[in-house]
Amino acid sequence: MQTAIYPGSFDPITVGHLDVIRRAANMFERVIVCVVANANKKTLLTLEERKEQAERVTAAFPNVEVDSWNGLLVDYAKQFDKPVVVRGLRALSDFEYEFMMALTNKKLNPGVETIFLATDEKYMYLSSSAVKEIAAFHGDVTEFLPPEILDDVLRKYQQEGS
Ligand code: ADP
Repeated sequence: MQTAIYPGSFDPITVGHLDVIRRAANMFERVIVCVVANANKKTLLTLEERKEQAERVTAAFPNVEVDSWNGLLVDYAKQFDKPVVVRGLRALSDFEYEFMMALTNKKLNPGVETIFLATDEKYMYLSSSAVKEIAAFHGDVTEFLPPEILDDVLRKYQQEGS
């Protein structure tokens, strides 16, 4: 059974991420959303919160699982047979970073292939950072976040602000 791993910070998980997950779930028998702890990024949500939210929004997908990892993706991938890493591409600006990561991962573990799913144009301008910026100024993020997690993310901002 071929496993696809969709790694990311998911801080928070957006409807753009969910679209990539839904499409990957139609292409692969098993998809693992891997919430990664990124030492270079300060996150709004803890690793546990991000994982739990990803679990909640993917609960309806029978072939999608959620995991978390604090380390190199290539080390995580070692437990699977010929895993495929799925990443999303929004604009040309994503390309250079994603291409460099894919080549680096391939160098570290030649058994790991990366494939890219082009964003749906509806989500082209959607990123977790944009959502956070809008939410921080009390803008409306309803259409960007899955309804199951909207209140939790907004509550986090109220806590931060208090
Ligand atoms: P990272 O911190 O690893 O970039 P993110 O959680 O920001 O993690 O994103 C995970 C993956 O999802 C990345 O490949 C990113 O390009 C992709 N992605 C994020 N938002 C979208 C979107 N709106 N449409 C398609 N892909 C997306």
